[in-house]
Amino acid sequence: MIDLRSDTVTRPTPDMLQAMMRAPVGDDVIDIDPTVVQLQEKTAELLGKEAAIFMPSGTMTNQIALRVHCSPGDEFLCETECHIYNYEQGAFAQLSGLVARTIPGHCGVFGLDQLDGMVRPDNEHMVRTRLICLENTSNRGGGSIFPQSLVESICAWAKHHGLCSHLDGARLFNAAVATGRSVGELAAPFDSVSVCFSKGLGAPVGSCLAGTKEFVAKARRARKLFGGGMRQAGYLAAAALYALEHHVDRLAVDHAHANRLAETVQELEGLHLLGGSVETNIVIFKIEPKLGTAADFARRLLEEGVQVMAFGPQSIRMVTHLDLSASDIETACSAMRRLLGR
Ligand SMILES: *Cc1c(COP(=O)(O)O)cnc(C)c1O
Repeated sequence: MIDLRSDTVTRPTPDMLQAMMRAPVGDDVIDIDPTVVQLQEKTAELLGKEAAIFMPSGTMTNQIALRVHCSPGDEFLCETECHIYNYEQGAFAQLSGLVARTIPGHCGVFGLDQLDGMVRPDNEHMVRTRLICLENTSNRGGGSIFPQSLVESICAWAKHHGLCSHLDGARLFNAAVATGRSVGELAAPFDSVSVCFSKGLGAPVGSCLAGTKEFVAKARRARKLFGGGMRQAGYLAAAALYALEHHVDRLAVDHAHANRLAETVQELEGLHLLGGSVETNIVIFKIEPKLGTAADFARRLLEEGVQVMAFGPQSIRMVTHLDLSASDIETACSAMRRLLGR
């Protein structure tokens, strides 16, 4: 089976499992786990922040960032299609009493001019605008990269208006490899940054949230509150450390594979690639209704041994990752051609 549903479906490699088994561990809730500490220090250094903290998921790192930056009755700004707004059950409202105000983008990217008038005045009728969140790369935007000059001007705008800024960098390493910029450079304009090790980097579990020491100390308290304290988490941190060492540069291979899939999508009549090109490892395309629904398309591809995700009534998402070879990608391309009678 060729699994293109997500870059989270990868299994740890034998070498990664070896690294996990060798990890020195402690109790990271009572005090510390040495391998978790090593991962946190390494991640903070890579992201150019004072400190970082390891958590079970990117949902938790995002939600704890929101909680630490904001208080109940505060509002944050984010792009309409972003993960924090669409795929985290409105946890910011359920758990932290926050309100989201969305900004429509194009493939996850919006302009500075759209922020005009988005900070509410100090008025007792209104929520307080407190934070802005960006996502890089954008999942629903088809793995698009938020242009760095725009990131810099948006974060400068936020600072000017007294807002904090948070980056959902679940796939920040993909953006770094694709642009040739370091993750530190991409993270620099933000007060806090979340990165996932369980996506393209191929670790089984885990994310880190980075920021100032003071921010991370508050995040550690919130992590316990949210049930994210993990004891011998060094076994998981070891997988993430291994991934940082061995699985970053190879993301370029995933990007080439996604490009190959996108080329095939563009050859086929009735399929329309989101954004007209692919920048990283996510390929999203629309299917014309005369060819059936996305669910039909996914079911027929499954019969050919290729798993994809129906991402809307007429939308399909394919994500490349380290468990796919060039020949798997060619097989998937042939399956799509066969399905559409080419
Ligand atoms: C996957 C993802 C997350 C976090 O997901 P978890 O499954 O909770 O680890 C956050 N943001 C984006 C953009 C993602 O793709």
